[in-house]
Amino acid sequence: MENSSLSHDVLVIGAGLWGCVVARELAEAGNRVLVLEARTLPGGNARSAIDPKTGIECHCYGAHIFHTSDEEVWTYANRFATFTDYRHTVLTEHAGKVYFMPLGLALINAFYGKNLRPDEVPAFIASEIAKSGLSGEPKNLEEQAISLIGRPLYEAFIKGYTQKQWNADPKTLPSFIIRRLPVRTNYNTGYFNDPHQGVPRDGYFSLFAALLNHPGIEVRYGTDYLAIRDAFPAELPVFYSGPIDAYFDFRHGALPWRGLRFEWEVKPVRDWQGTTVMNYADLDVPYTRIHEFKHFHPERKEVYASEQTIICREYPADWKVGDIPYYPVNTDASAALLARYQEEAKALPNVIFGGRLGEYKYYDMDKVIRRALDQVHDWMAR
Ligand code: UDP
Repeated sequence: MENSSLSHDVLVIGAGLWGCVVARELAEAGNRVLVLEARTLPGGNARSAIDPKTGIECHCYGAHIFHTSDEEVWTYANRFATFTDYRHTVLTEHAGKVYFMPLGLALINAFYGKNLRPDEVPAFIASEIAKSGLSGEPKNLEEQAISLIGRPLYEAFIKGYTQKQWNADPKTLPSFIIRRLPVRTNYNTGYFNDPHQGVPRDGYFSLFAALLNHPGIEVRYGTDYLAIRDAFPAELPVFYSGPIDAYFDFRHGALPWRGLRFEWEVKPVRDWQGTTVMNYADLDVPYTRIHEFKHFHPERKEVYASEQTIICREYPADWKVGDIPYYPVNTDASAALLARYQEEAKALPNVIFGGRLGEYKYYDMDKVIRRALDQVHDWMAR
């Protein structure tokens, strides 16, 4: 290990999206890059795999849809994958009925049994908000949601889902979590507003393989960097995308994460739920959503038409150190803890922390690419 590290200029820890982009940029600039990945495959939690029995590509850690408004990021991603024109829609079941998310005219009219026109929606929602009796700046997720959509819609579509997702009363959660909530006044049922959307035509695995396919990049899988870090020269720059608290041996305590548990099932039907993602808004259903992955790729005609499908129930789960982290749990306490680790990180100019785990941030994939490009370019300009 000691000798081979001498032939590399930079270490990248983690072959998730952030690590792959960083490694690529460093290698294209002429660096010899060694990537160490604890798992046996790249892609982090955005990884997908083809199920050998059905031929269906499944997102191993929950559905991932690439969407962005950042032209540079879109151009960058398209260098490494061809994206389909998939546009994500999400449906949600509440009290035995199915509605279109996000909150738009289709959902509002169905929920209230009305036939509002677009220009009638703002006044209608404003009257619902006024009935809630809330005033002043919203102090938490519940108040934020009610001040945007009123109490009935909040209680039907947000309260139970959010409680399940975070195992916390929405009154105790920060409002930024529902950043995608604002109401649409039309029948556009697309989940995201971004102009650019899609999934890699040849699978997410093809995107990661393409990013890492450079003569300047060597990847070692099944390698836990923290267990062997003393084997590397202290002056070797490290781009680290593992958990920031793990890097510092949890010396101030562990940052809290929300976990997930997936329950997979093959169904002997061509189409089980008619859409990729169905949310379950009510507290008495223990899962938050069901994915049916074949719907991401209707263009794969043979697989799409086959009389088999795979569904995956997603259950939010408690998390402890050692489990797979999914969502950072942003509270005042976790922000204070993060600040202590960030202070320690500042004293290490040779280590750049990044990605969802390294920055303890609820990043979407496009934001991860944006951050990776900015961080690596800043570093190279030093
Ligand atoms: N959310 C909700 N009801 C829904 C979907 C989302 O209340 O049907 C809220 C919930 O608080 C969740 C947040 O919006 O944590 C973000 O959800 P989204 O599906 O956008 O996030 P993802 O889990 O896909 O990152």
